[in-house]
Amino acid sequence: MSTQSSKIAMTEFTNPNFEVLYTSEEIAARIKELGVRITADYAEKELVLVGVLKGSCIFMADLMRAIDLNLTIDFMAVSSYKDGTRSTGDVEILKDLSNPIRGKHVMVVEDIVDTGLTLSRLLEILESRGAASIRLASFLDKPEPRIKTELKIDYTGFVVPNKFVVGYGLDAAGRYRNLPFIAVVKNPDEL
Ligand code: 5GP
Repeated sequence: MSTQSSKIAMTEFTNPNFEVLYTSEEIAARIKELGVRITADYAEKELVLVGVLKGSCIFMADLMRAIDLNLTIDFMAVSSYKDGTRSTGDVEILKDLSNPIRGKHVMVVEDIVDTGLTLSRLLEILESRGAASIRLASFLDKPEPRIKTELKIDYTGFVVPNKFVVGYGLDAAGRYRNLPFIAVVKNPDEL
């Protein structure tokens, strides 16, 4: 690694524009707890974890290793927040599942539920495909701005305030997914 790139990485991890909400240690401890619960809830069941790209990638990687079951994984990519602002509820499938989910116990793994519109629509689509059950695991829950959808999060990592957060898979214009913590961006104009 060049001196230049290691300097950039250190600068981002200690960027004063980020106010750390949850450290990597706190995240690891919480995911361990979720893993124990999910392992108990799905004993004897055929579980498929469906990660919603790209934001869930890190949560998915950590969560699956905390679940002590014989499971499989798949991924979907859907469009949301097209202009970097609010969700419209219109969902376009950019990448679909690789395998059918009929008869399977599906757990959708998401980075954050904000308005819940994207997820509600995605869950409807998956329900129409005949899964035995569908549950939702979201690393973060931002309940405050939620437009009243019937969305129920079965497994939540942390509840966060109604502020824009980055890190641990969550981005701002494609960046900061690699931050090992969750942070509130103090001045979004300075990113
Ligand atoms: P929803 O349909 O629930 O409003 O939109 C959820 C999606 O919006 C998430 O998957 C995520 O991509 C994006 N999003 C919502 N809130 C935040 C946030 O605070 N930070 C980041 N980085 N993305 C967010």
